[in-house]
Amino acid sequence: MRAVCWNGVADVRVKTVPDPTIINPRDAIIRVTSTAICGSDLHLYSGDVPAMRKGDILGHEFMGEVVELGPEVKNLQKGDRVLVPFPIACGACFFCKRELWSCCDNSNPNAAQAEEHWGHSPAGLFGYSHLTGGYAGGQAQYVRVPFADVGPLKVPEGLRDEQVLFLTDILPTAWQAAEHCNIQRGDTVAIWGAGPVGLLTVVCAYAMGAERVIIIDRVPERLETARRKNAVIINDEKADVGEVLRDITGGRGPDATIDAVGMEAHDVGLENAYDRARHAMRLETDRPHALREAIMHCRKGGVVSVPGFYSGTVDRFPMGAVANKGLTLRSGQAHVHRYMRPLLDRIQRGELDATFIITHRLPLEEAAHGYDIFKNKREDCIKVVLTP
Ligand code: NAD
Ligand code: ZN
Repeated sequence: MRAVCWNGVADVRVKTVPDPTIINPRDAIIRVTSTAICGSDLHLYSGDVPAMRKGDILGHEFMGEVVELGPEVKNLQKGDRVLVPFPIACGACFFCKRELWSCCDNSNPNAAQAEEHWGHSPAGLFGYSHLTGGYAGGQAQYVRVPFADVGPLKVPEGLRDEQVLFLTDILPTAWQAAEHCNIQRGDTVAIWGAGPVGLLTVVCAYAMGAERVIIIDRVPERLETARRKNAVIINDEKADVGEVLRDITGGRGPDATIDAVGMEAHDVGLENAYDRARHAMRLETDRPHALREAIMHCRKGGVVSVPGFYSGTVDRFPMGAVANKGLTLRSGQAHVHRYMRPLLDRIQRGELDATFIITHRLPLEEAAHGYDIFKNKREDCIKVVLTP
């Protein structure tokens, strides 16, 4: 089959690789019909996530048709059209029972390696480095789905791939990011990053009753897309973010702030030079500019929600602001399984639409171009959907 393989920093190639086969009785093989490139894939592309190997198959946002089933998967049939959540979860451990699916205890075969990095191992993830299992991803013609009796959700008739594809990752991610903010009517929420996650979080925060959602970025077409979803936009190259946020909120600060940027934040100032230098010397793995701002500008007693991905350590972390302002910090890989069904219902009722972020539809063979324009914000790219 053909698959998108990681070949090194800023180098992905579509290669012919062996077809996946059933290994465990709870596996399924899916023929992928649509797959997307995620901001998380860009951290792999940049070489910022450890334990990637040449030839690893990328991709964790994908859906398709069941073509083979292990003998213990009783809830699916060949021919079913399914959405596959990006965390792999057993459905039976302490964490799955508590709906903390991305923390599953049984799906990362490389748990010992993850424990060295993070104290405990999270769930295995599709196409996301050997730290989280080294599973082959879904930017491919076929993919093996472990615990297929737990994760995949059948798609009801009448919905196109594009309408539901983002239920496998970024829509639940955005929902969880907003839910972490405990939004009350009248609240103001500020989001750093107008990428796919930030943009969908605007929509989710309004759906939960936020009165005003503010978004901060510098990429004009992304800010414009956010404006069309009624967000107040701040271009951080043109304005002093802190000053604008204080102005809008009568000096108090947003009730919740969301870091939808993650470990590769841009900044032109001295702080950026500092972070880049520390990063180059391997004294700091992540560049947390947006996180620092989200903490510094959140109102006292507010929530800082962090869907943005971090892989290691950050420096100059403003813990004093967290402690003295009484902030609550919430983060995590999305517990996709928890949100897929209720969000699918909302899509079906016409209450939620995530298709507005799609700017590019490309054949799988053009994945390298897709990564390039998404990473470098060329061709007004916001979200790429690939068709194998
Ligand atoms: P993206 O890279 O397209 O979006 C990031 C945006 O942040 C870009 O528009 C960029 O211009 C902007 N940005 C960079 N530095 C900034 C700064 N200092 N201030 C304000 N904006 C800044 O990626 P995405 O797909 O939207 O993903 C966003 C983050 O969410 C990534 O870190 C990704 O790994 C993470 N993610 C997490 C989960 C999860 O389960 N928690 C799921 C999906 C994605
Ligand atoms: Zn993702």
